[in-house]
Formats: sequence, C-alpha cells, structure tokens
Amino acid sequence: MSSKSKWVYIFNEVEQAEKYVDGEWEAVRGLLGGKGANLAEMTRLKVPVPPGFTLTTEACNAYLAAGENFPEGMWEQALEALKAVESATGKKFGDKKNPLLVSCRSGGKFSMPGMMDTVLNIGLNDDTAKAMIQLTGDERFVYDLYRRLVQMFGSVVMGIPDEPFEEVITRTRRKAGVKSDAELTAEDWQKVTADFKNIYKHHTHRSFPSDPLLQLRKATEAVFKSWNGKRAVDYRNAAGIAHDLGTAVNIQTMIFGNMGDNSATGVAMTRNASTGEKHIEGDYLMNAQGEDVVAGIRLTNDIKELKKDLPDAYAQFEQICENLEKHYRDMQDVEFTVENGRLWMLQTRDGKRTAQAAVRIAVDMVEEGLISKEEAVLRVSPDQIDFFLHPQFDIQSKQKAHSSGSFLAKGLNVSPGAAVGIVAFDADRAEKWAKDEGKDVIMVRPETKPDDVHGMLAAEGILTSRGGRTSHAALVARQFGTPAVVGVSSLEIDLANRRMHVGNQVIKEGDWISIDGTAGEVYLGKLETMVPDIKDPWLLKLLLWADEFRRLGVWANADYPKDAERAREYGAQGIGLCRTEHMFFEAERLPHVQKMIMTDLPRERQEALAAILPFQREDFIGIFRAMDGLPVIIRLIDPPLHEFLPNRFDLMHELFDLKIRLQHTANLAQVDDLLEQIRQKETILKRVESLHEANPMLGLRGVRLGIQIPELTTMQVRAIFEAACAVSKEDVVVHPEVMIPLTSHVNELKIQRQALESEAKKVMDEQGIKIDYKFGTMIEIPRAAITADEIAEYAQFISFGTNDLTQTTFGISRDDAEAGFLMQYISTGVLPENPFAVIDPNGVGELMRIAVTKGRSVNPDLECGICGEHGGDPESILLCHELGLTYVSCSPFRVPIARLAAAHAALQGRITKDQ
Ligand code: PEP
Ligand code: MG
Repeated sequence: MSSKSKWVYIFNEVEQAEKYVDGEWEAVRGLLGGKGANLAEMTRLKVPVPPGFTLTTEACNAYLAAGENFPEGMWEQALEALKAVESATGKKFGDKKNPLLVSCRSGGKFSMPGMMDTVLNIGLNDDTAKAMIQLTGDERFVYDLYRRLVQMFGSVVMGIPDEPFEEVITRTRRKAGVKSDAELTAEDWQKVTADFKNIYKHHTHRSFPSDPLLQLRKATEAVFKSWNGKRAVDYRNAAGIAHDLGTAVNIQTMIFGNMGDNSATGVAMTRNASTGEKHIEGDYLMNAQGEDVVAGIRLTNDIKELKKDLPDAYAQFEQICENLEKHYRDMQDVEFTVENGRLWMLQTRDGKRTAQAAVRIAVDMVEEGLISKEEAVLRVSPDQIDFFLHPQFDIQSKQKAHSSGSFLAKGLNVSPGAAVGIVAFDADRAEKWAKDEGKDVIMVRPETKPDDVHGMLAAEGILTSRGGRTSHAALVARQFGTPAVVGVSSLEIDLANRRMHVGNQVIKEGDWISIDGTAGEVYLGKLETMVPDIKDPWLLKLLLWADEFRRLGVWANADYPKDAERAREYGAQGIGLCRTEHMFFEAERLPHVQKMIMTDLPRERQEALAAILPFQREDFIGIFRAMDGLPVIIRLIDPPLHEFLPNRFDLMHELFDLKIRLQHTANLAQVDDLLEQIRQKETILKRVESLHEANPMLGLRGVRLGIQIPELTTMQVRAIFEAACAVSKEDVVVHPEVMIPLTSHVNELKIQRQALESEAKKVMDEQGIKIDYKFGTMIEIPRAAITADEIAEYAQFISFGTNDLTQTTFGISRDDAEAGFLMQYISTGVLPENPFAVIDPNGVGELMRIAVTKGRSVNPDLECGICGEHGGDPESILLCHELGLTYVSCSPFRVPIARLAAAHAALQGRITKDQ
C-alpha cells in the first residue's frame, strides 16, 4: 500500500470508508471493525456519540506484518484526526487548561468480548490532572481516573500483573477503615496514584510516561498487538473467527459516568437476551465508569431503575434504542454513559442471545414488519435449534430437591439449559478435570475474566456469585450455549480453602451440584434431566416458514414406531431408513435369529424365519400407522450374520471353563450335563468360526446376504407386505419402499427385485389388496455410484448410505476411524474435516454427483436421498441441496435442524443466484 493509503477515519467519515470498499457494509465492518463501523454509523444517524476516530484493521495488519512498526503515514493521519476531535470538543490533548482525555479500544470485525485490550483516560499527567481538578472541582474523581490510567497502561502496555495494584487498593481501604472503594477520599486516590507510579517504575525501570502523545502511541500499539494475544487467539479458535482479520483501534473522547449524582454508566440489550421478550434489559451503576459494570465487581442496578434515577436521560435512551433497532433491524447491545445529565451512546452492536431468544426475536421482528420471513429463517442457525432439544431438569426432580432441602440458591438465569457436574473453583482445574479425566464439571467463580475462557468452554455449566446479565460469564456462556447462573449473591466463595458456603451449607471442590440456567437456580447433588419437547410457539412458526423455502424433503431414520412418531411430530415427511436388523437383536427374537443362522437344514431355517416374521410384521405395522400417508423406506437386513452370534473369544473362554469344571464333577448326571453344554457351545463356535471374516465390513453383508439366503429376503418382504395390507384395511395410506443395501453390481439388484416382486405379488394376492410400492437400493460403494445408470434401470429410487460410501471411498474403516489415525489426520490438517461427520465434497460428494446425474439420465424422476449420518449435518445438507437430492434423512432429533438447514441452503442459493 502506498504512503497515500488512508489508515484513519474520523467517525463522521463513514461515506469515505464506504467508497473505499465499494459500498459493502460488511466490508466497512471489516475495515473499521464492528465497533468503529457502528460508531461511525451512529454518528451518521445523529445519535449522540463522543467524537473520535478509527485506525483501520488494515493498519493493524500492516503494523503486525512489518514486525510491529506503524505503516507509513498512519501516525500522522492519527494526529490530524486528533486535531479534528479537539475542534469538535473544544478541548485539547495535553492542554493545561481544558484537556481532552481519550480512550483507546480494540474492535475487530466480529465481537470478541473482553478478549483484547483497552486503555482509558489517556492524556492524564500531573499537569492535565490539575486542569481537570480546576474544571470539575472534584479532586477525588480526577485522581481516581489517574490511578486507573496508570494501572491500565501498566498492565495492558507494559504487562505488569494486576495483583500489586490490587494490593495497594486493599491496603488503602484497610488503612482508611472502609469497606468499598467509593468511601476512599481524594487524598487516598492521590496516594494510590503515586504508589501505582512506583509499581510501574519498579516493574519497568522507567517512569510512567507523562507525554500524552506517547501514552496514546503506546496504547495503540498494545491494542494492535493484543490481536495476537493468547486469549484472543484461543477465543478465535473456539468461535471460528479467522486469524487474519486484524483489529481496528478506536480512539474516542472520554465521557465520564463518575462525575457525580447525575452521572451513570451502563450496558443494555434492546430485548431480553435470554428469552427474546421485547423489553430493554440491562445493568447500570450511578456515578461509575463503564468498566465497573462489565467487570461485574459491583452489584449493578436493573436498568428499569434508571427511569427513576435519571428520567430525562432514560426517556432519550429508550427512544434511541428503538431507533437503533429500526435502523439495524436487529436487537442491539448498547453501552451508554450519562455525564452530568447528558446521555452519550458509546457503542452499539447486534446483541448476542440465546438460541431461544434468537428464534423469538427473529419471528417477532417479522411480525413487527422489521424483517422478512426469509431473513428471520436465515438469522437462526441450524445448530441453535439444538437448544430446544437440550436437557432441562425434570420438574419432579426439582420438586423433590426443593422438599428435601437440596435447593441452594437463586441467581440470574443468563444462559438456559440444565447442567450437572462437580464443582471446580478455577479454569485450569475445570479444564483438566473435564478434558483429561472426562468428568462433568461446573466451573464456579466469584466472577469470570477473559483468562478463564478455556475452563468455561470445558465446563458443563458456569456459576458465579457476582456479575449481571451482561457480565463476562453471561456473555461467554450464552455464546457457547453453556448453561449459566450468575450473580448468586448468597454464595460465599472461599477460594483459599476451596469451598463455598450458602447459609449453613458447605460445598467442597469436587462435590456435585446442578444448575438450572433457564430458571437461575442452584441445587446440591445431581438432578435428573430431561429433553424438552420442541413446542416453543416461535420455533414452530419459524420452522413452518423454513418449510416454505426449502426444496429438499426432510425424512427421518427410524427403526421403531415410537421413533417414527417422534420423527413425524418433529416434521419428518417420510422414513428414509428403517434398519430392520435392529429388530433382530431384541431379547425375545434373538434365539430365533440365532437358530436361523445356526441350522443347515432348510426346514429348520424356514421355521426360525416363520417365528421372526410376526415380530417384523408388528414393527412395520406400527411404523406404517405412525407414517400414515407418507413414504416409508424399509431396508432389508444388512450386517454380517456373525454379529447375531456370541463373541468368538467369549465362547472359547466359556468352553475352557466348562472343560475345567468337567474335571471336578461329583456325579455322572453332572458329567452328562456338562458334556451336552460343551457340545452345544462347540457347535456354535464352529459356526461362528465358519462365519468369521477378517474384514466383515467388506464381507457377507447387505445384498450379498439376501442372495446367499433367499429365504431371509422372502421373509422380510412378506412381513412388509402383510403389514402394509393389514394397515390398508384400517384405511391407513401406505407407501412402502423396499431398499436393498450395499449393492455393487446391477445383477445383484436384478436377482433381488425378482425375489421381491414374486413374494410381494403372492402376499397381495392372498390379501386381495394392491399396494403401491417402490423398489430401490442404497448407494454405498463407489462402483454402484459410477454405474448408477445401470442401476436406475432396476431401481425406482436410490439412497446414499454415506457412512459406508465414505468408508469405501476412503478405504478407512468406519468402526476404527475415530479411535485411530483419523483424528490425528484432522488435527494436523491432513484432512480438513472429519469425512464421517461432513461429506467430503470432492470425493464422496463427486461420486454422489455422478450417481445422481447418471441415474436421472435413465430415469429423470429417480428419487435420490441420503440416509447416512451426514443427512443431519447442515454443511452436508447444503451439498445435498446443490446435488438436487429429493430428501435428506436423519435421526428424528435432527429433523428440525435439517428443516432449517435445508431452508438455509435454498435461500443461500437464491441469494447467490440473485447476485
Ligand atoms: C450408511 O452406510 O450410510 C447407512 C445408512 O447404513 P448403515 O449405517 O446401517 O451401514
Ligand atoms: Mg451402510
């Protein structure tokens, strides 16, 4: 970039920034950071914003790229901008009469609460402090500002730890015989400032810089550098934010909320960030600085009280909140300060919210005419739907806890959901217990700080004794969907002895507690959790809108009638996979299945199959009834037969035991009995050994089984059609689709289709009913995908079994993959994603594309679906949409997620096309 590059934008230069990035607002945010862009935008909207300017993210990146050197021209532009601010405020930086003080704050494109650095009150030195005292007549206030500058500059710019500073304040309070900082006098703060300067000198071997411009320059550099600080990098890794965006730096006139009894500072959300209800929600403190509110150190007041404390400012604030919402068309998270009765807005950004609130706000805003249905659908991420399926505490378990005295305390319900775990009093221990020892942990702290994030991410839940709804703990918990209760003032945490007290109760580190982030309650011990029903009226509405936009069908994988019922309740439009072999494992059925496998005699096999048939028929009847009017794909048996027999090694052990017992028998009857047992076990072992395969996943399974044991196919087909006929007689509308697994060659299909058609016809003739059905196959082997045109001659539908297709395409065993080298492949970047979780687009996805194209070249109406685990993964759903599949099929619990993801895919496609 040339020396003419513009690195600095004054808040009223938003048009120039827009011009530079060709008008795209996202790009303005990229350039000025979210905070800077919004300050500029608010300035344009005539919202009262303290004057200031922004150093761009490009400046940050150039600074870091040049080995921490400002790019050419940047500092000169900053000095020019500072002059503009001076003339806007009538104050002068470093002036001995009317000094301007500024803040220096980070602000990346995406919000990273508390992860980067801030320095306030820049411009104070002994001279300007005196001038400020002259101006305000409040020496105490000015020295409070001054000591804050020394401390923040010391810790942020020079890396001095907080403890020595805190010790000075504690000592001063003790000496003065007071409990809170508010009771300290002007002399106390003056002395504290001097002590802080000594600490500064002791740690840095230099005096605290009295030159305001040097302070500003150093603070700017520190904020640029904080982009690469450990906690910022950790946060970006967890939140999926790119590392090359850089942070902007906002330099802004300081406004003081600690100017006396008609000053205040606070933070607020324009709607309730937990539930989405439409009312302003927030915290403030009278006569305080902004940091006091977010740090959660002092107990804050509810924003409603501000109406009484400062009625005019509150009325203006309410109006601004409404205007900001209308302008940004989204819930805003604002920071404000009232200085001597005058309201200033310091910041606005889209507010973080719980999933529940996200859904409600999106739907409400459509109804308020602020956004379109499409936008509402796009504003909720598929993963957020997961919240509605999250555990909550069982009501009875809660009632029991109340009556047995296990209820401990109530606090603020800042992030919903139920969490049960053992208490850990610091982030490192929480992380260690959770990650290394696999324990469920609740992290408990007086309040949390950005350095605690690793422990918070590892914990099941977060509990703090202090802090409000917008405290660090609350923000982080909400963002990551971790249940949290904060501000539990009855909790006395004794970190030194690693225990906490609530009334007379003592809870030690490692004890179990349960927290209810939905209600804000804390319980002793383990409460029972339950999965809530997704009956939230706003969610139901949003999902109905999603259904209007999506083109992909959403079906479900269900093996039992109760799964099918749930799937339907969640909005499934069919069953895409019913794995019939799961039914074989039930205790009353397994002996018949084993007999069918063990025997060599056709008659015995027929008998065993005849015994299994009624069970299968009943299962199918239940599923057909649940899916009245909708298609049901039933897959014929898939796994290798030995899976139904006892384990080979267990059998060998048992045989060994029996033979030993034979040597210690007391009588002949026992000998006979043991010999009979040995004979039976040996027969089973022989069969197990004869069925044993080195690679069973590539062995006698799927369609190969049906070809080897045709009676098995016949029995299953008979059960399906008898069930279909039976429910048809009850006026249930059935659409069975019979699916053949693991086909690799069209001839396999030909054989199975013949067998199916003749048995189906037989049953329908017997029953005197004609059932409309389809015949099709899974595509799980690359050969099948590549020859889908041949297959489409015999199949009316295909369904991608992407679990097997991924296994067979990569040649990686799906059973061993995630315990073996695959995870290392992913962590070291050999593979970009786990292909068993997200469809590999270039390999597996390409095979799918070939199969769909070739299959539909023969039969344009070929129904193409997916029933592997990927069918419930939003990224894979996008690919399925692009491939033009008919439907995705996934677990019933993921059906609502898939409905939304399919709508996103369709809407994103539409946006791309429009562009
Ligand atoms: C698949 O392979 O993707 C599939 C759905 O079948 P299964 O998981 O039962 O092998
Ligand atoms: Mg499979």
